[in-house]
Amino acid sequence: MTFEALGLHASVLKALTEAGYTKPTGVQEQAIPAALAGRDLLVSSQTGSGKTAAFMLPALHKFASAEPSAEAARTPNQQSQSARARGERPRFRAAQPKMLVLTPTRELALQVTTATDKYGAYMRRIRAVSILGGMPYPKQMQLLAKNPEILVATPGRLIDHMESGKIDFSQLEILVLDEADRMLDMGFIEDIEKIVAATPDSRQTMLFSATLDGVVGNMAKRITTEPTIIQIASSSSRHENIQQRVHFVDDLSHKNRLLDHLLRDETMDQAVVFTATKRDADTIADRLNIAGFAAAALHGDMHQGARNRTLDSVRRGQVRVLVATDVAARGIDVPTITHVFNYDLPKFPEDYVHRIGRTGRAGRNGLAISLVNHAEGMHVKRIERFTKQLIPVNVIEGFEPKRTAAPRPHKPNGWKPGDSRGGKPGQRSFSKPGAPRREGSSYGSGNGSSFGKGPRGADAGARRSYGDR
Ligand code: AMP
Repeated sequence: MTFEALGLHASVLKALTEAGYTKPTGVQEQAIPAALAGRDLLVSSQTGSGKTAAFMLPALHKFASAEPSAEAARTPNQQSQSARARGERPRFRAAQPKMLVLTPTRELALQVTTATDKYGAYMRRIRAVSILGGMPYPKQMQLLAKNPEILVATPGRLIDHMESGKIDFSQLEILVLDEADRMLDMGFIEDIEKIVAATPDSRQTMLFSATLDGVVGNMAKRITTEPTIIQIASSSSRHENIQQRVHFVDDLSHKNRLLDHLLRDETMDQAVVFTATKRDADTIADRLNIAGFAAAALHGDMHQGARNRTLDSVRRGQVRVLVATDVAARGIDVPTITHVFNYDLPKFPEDYVHRIGRTGRAGRNGLAISLVNHAEGMHVKRIERFTKQLIPVNVIEGFEPKRTAAPRPHKPNGWKPGDSRGGKPGQRSFSKPGAPRREGSSYGSGNGSSFGKGPRGADAGARRSYGDR
């Protein structure tokens, strides 16, 4: 399957070639034809699967294929320009977007906007703007005055602008809810219902979510019409290209020493370290900086400007270790992130899946390491049950925990022998006390070739333990 075969507009195809995309990902292959046919979509697909292009490419195709006269008629604020020519103060005219993408976080919104700019680079006049909390109102008014075709917004700030008459959704053609489950987790349900109610019934609705069950499923039923349902992977997405590991630690000092050691892994390009609290994110980033790592914190207490600057530094490779909380890190898409560390385990197993999805982007390989104290064993089990995958325990020589991890003879619910990458079920994979996994068994080290290509050398040891349960 090629993008040409999907029948996308020439200007979109040109942008895709420039972006280096050679063929559609699984979710794009299924979603694009249905979206081009005008169907409503309910899509559950894993993070990093290419879902942004799955909804944005068909939308851009539609706008690019629209009558040129309709495009031309959309000159921004003609009324304001003529008023200005008459020396009058222009009256603000509400923006009338054709497409709205709702996202749970500012970072994801900015990322969708950047992707839209990339995919729409060869179109005549397609403007995508982000409407986000934390951004100054005057700046947003300027953006809205340009009457953009596409709004990418977080729900709260959008409602503010709707209520003050700055946005009129009567011309809306396409509504996308990105990471809908997360928006509901964050308590946006009433805002979403209000926004949806302000849009025409004739709109096309596309909802993307890790899960289509429960509350999300109910909402999806209310806001879509005979949707095409696409399930690329369940919420417990397998992340086959991401190696996962647990390292047990005795206490905080052990955890910090081990983290420092693991961050010195020479196969590491960039890493995200997840903490439970904003304060810890700051403290650990400071500590790592003092230890000589180029580290920075990212959390919800930071102003949007500071968050954007930090993310830019990560993208430019100036920050090698990003220490982040869950909400702030959602949607980070930096292909050079090779490692994810759970300094603290996430509160919800769903967040574990999102966290580890910060690495292994765009088909690359990644490594996700959780630093866990013994009391958190149950928590690891919950994650394993959710992902239906067992996470191998690893020990590094010189960093062995004093306490040996208790055996975990269980199999997660729904786990099948085939799930273990070919290993025998029922056996446990804890490294035997006294036979610690050697330093060289850390991901891909001890081997000069690029990491993660397959079980070879030291890497094979880690993979074996995966299947040995
Ligand atoms: P997303 O799931 O939309 O956040 O996309 C994840 C990453 O995959 C982004 O870095 C995209 O630029 C990249 N991507 C999306 N579609 C393709 C494709 N067809 N080929 C190669 N990379 C892609």
